[in-house]
Amino acid sequence: MLATVSRHFAETARWTGLEKPDPRVLEAMRCIPRDRFVPTDRRAAAWEDRPLEIGSGQTISQPFVVALLAQLCDCVQGTRVLEIGTGCGYQAAVLAALGAEVWSIELEPELAREAASRLAGLRDLEGEPLRFHLRTGDGSRGWPEAAPFARIVATAAPVVLPPPWLAQLAAPGRLVAPLGPVGDTQMLTVVDKDEDGRLEQSRVLSVRFVPLRH
Ligand code: SAH
Repeated sequence: MLATVSRHFAETARWTGLEKPDPRVLEAMRCIPRDRFVPTDRRAAAWEDRPLEIGSGQTISQPFVVALLAQLCDCVQGTRVLEIGTGCGYQAAVLAALGAEVWSIELEPELAREAASRLAGLRDLEGEPLRFHLRTGDGSRGWPEAAPFARIVATAAPVVLPPPWLAQLAAPGRLVAPLGPVGDTQMLTVVDKDEDGRLEQSRVLSVRFVPLRH
């Protein structure tokens, strides 16, 4: 799977500007057992580089996309990250394995419950528990009590950026989100906020995520 992820980086480099995955991101993905994040009857396919159905009409993202989002988030030990759309919890686990403290919101109670039980037992290579805060609800409002966040990453696509996300982004900070209409591909977009709160938006790659629902 990681070899395919690396190949996808090379193939998309002309849009993303990223020739290869950061070794830290690959290491984090090696640490997290992806087969534990998919339904039991899908385990055999868990290490293929493609998205999979996880129930409630939702998907676990393609590993390449998980790696790309993790790399764009550029987390170090203690980076505060808000994720919108926990789903099965795999992206959150990879971010936490990179040292991030992750706040993640999921709309579907069933998925949120399952993700919570998967994430509860995860530890880093030193045996320290990975750090998660999980909430069930509409992530378009963000998580105001825990703001500001150095990183905000959305794995469900809004048509336009919900204002609370920009308000809850630290200065400096970075938001990574797919943006675009329902039923179409979206543009993976990075919004950088500088120390003075000025925003700069850049387009990374055409992607396909599930829509952000309300
Ligand atoms: N992060 C996941 C991918 C999740 S797919 C991974 O690691 O594979 C996107 C998820 O966003 C779905 O589970 C969907 O239920 C959730 N979602 C959709 N709209 C939402 C909203 N408004 N707030 C929170 N979660 C939402």
